[in-house]
Amino acid sequence: MSKLQELKTHLADVIHLQHAAGVLGWDQQTYMPPGGAEARAEQLATLSRLAHEMFVAETTGALLQQAAAEVDGAGYDSDEAALVRVVQHDYDLATRVPTKLVEEIARTTTLAHEVWAKARQANDFASFAPMLDKIYDLMRQQADALGYEDRMYDALLDQYEPGMKTAQVEALFAELREELVPFVAAIFERLDAVDDTPVKLNYDVDKQAEFGLKVIEQLGYDMTRGRQDKAVHPFTTEFSINDVRITTRYQEDWMPAALFGSIHEAGHAMYEQGSDPRLEGTMLAGGTSLGVHESQSRMWENLVGRSRGFWQYFYPDLQKLFPEQLGAVNLDAFYKAINAVSRSLIRVEADEVTYNLHIMLRFEMENDLLEGKLAVNDAPDYWNAKMDSYLGITPPDNGKHGVLQDVHWSSGLVGYFPTYSLGNFLSVQYWDKALADVPSIPDDIASGNFATLLDWLRANIHVHGRKYWPTELTERVTGEPIQVRSFMRYLKDKYTPIYDL
Ligand code: ZN
Repeated sequence: MSKLQELKTHLADVIHLQHAAGVLGWDQQTYMPPGGAEARAEQLATLSRLAHEMFVAETTGALLQQAAAEVDGAGYDSDEAALVRVVQHDYDLATRVPTKLVEEIARTTTLAHEVWAKARQANDFASFAPMLDKIYDLMRQQADALGYEDRMYDALLDQYEPGMKTAQVEALFAELREELVPFVAAIFERLDAVDDTPVKLNYDVDKQAEFGLKVIEQLGYDMTRGRQDKAVHPFTTEFSINDVRITTRYQEDWMPAALFGSIHEAGHAMYEQGSDPRLEGTMLAGGTSLGVHESQSRMWENLVGRSRGFWQYFYPDLQKLFPEQLGAVNLDAFYKAINAVSRSLIRVEADEVTYNLHIMLRFEMENDLLEGKLAVNDAPDYWNAKMDSYLGITPPDNGKHGVLQDVHWSSGLVGYFPTYSLGNFLSVQYWDKALADVPSIPDDIASGNFATLLDWLRANIHVHGRKYWPTELTERVTGEPIQVRSFMRYLKDKYTPIYDL
């Protein structure tokens, strides 16, 4: 057997354990009775430990070296060279952090999650502050272990967006801030121009589910290789290219939550389903980074799902399903209602215009906390001042409407937030290129044909799985690096007429 084949066989066991843990995790969030929590935590810990031990074992390192020598000379684009390259990267990350530190982070964040949930509910930042201090201390140790040249944050960011640098993200946000902050202020002056009450009426949950399912199937989410269930937090999870599942949650008094949530998760799922079948069962299957993943979900959610063309096609069906709520609301009014901008304090509820300001704030705060420029105790004031300067609003508390609203920091996810914005920027860059290649896409969407867009995404992005780093992929697809120009132009073109600016 070749060394590459030996490596694949060895990694297959790791992948099986990871996917088995994935199934247990999916079950935990969908069907498991509450009583199962304790046993499930033990089961998951065992499977995760076995997968991790098997992956960081010296066998993996030795096989990698031998396989690398074997594929030396294979082209950069070949599956063989890509596999060795990507696994080497994952292996380096996984082995650089000492086991003791991994365990310490796991223990602290498990504890921190409980403390955070209580503090958030009670709007009591002070009770979470010591935990946050501890977590940032651990994050500094993690960054040191992972290694970085320029900025400490680089090491953490690289785990989620390989190859992306802090300075690059800062430059993107600086450009965004300059144009977006005044644009948001101008829209806030004219909030009355859009009435979003039609989507805030009472909508029967079963009918919402029926409609949402019909939409995502028509977009191209393959239900013979996927399924949708209810969960408290919407997510996508996969155990194979041929088993990619999503979840959604329904709100009776805010119809967009489930519908656009489903479209968003279906966007993630279609990316996972679209990996080349040759990559099945290898570490090359799936999305290349969180940012590129988010570009897919946001494209389907916003550029497709919140477009006029999409609703030219789907609105008559929705009206038929909800005649009381929508019978007297015309297409134009509905289109505006689903694109309403608001002074939201909460990131996950933010519209596409203000969303990135929420991310920018978190990214700046993470850096300042990490580099010791900001003391944990001053975090709420820092947060509130930025909310005022970017969005013109002040949170009423230092808890669920403010600095404690997100789960990420309590879970030790520092460096993760910017990938949401990177995904938003990339979604427009990829979209522009798709339309340049296939100009009929907007008309196709308006007539209910989503295959031309999905086929383009498959051929240019999905099929590659993790073979290319996100920076390489974007260059290959669009001919340029990530930038904010296209995103800003898209926002202005779309929202200037909506708010009659
Ligand atoms: Zn997402």
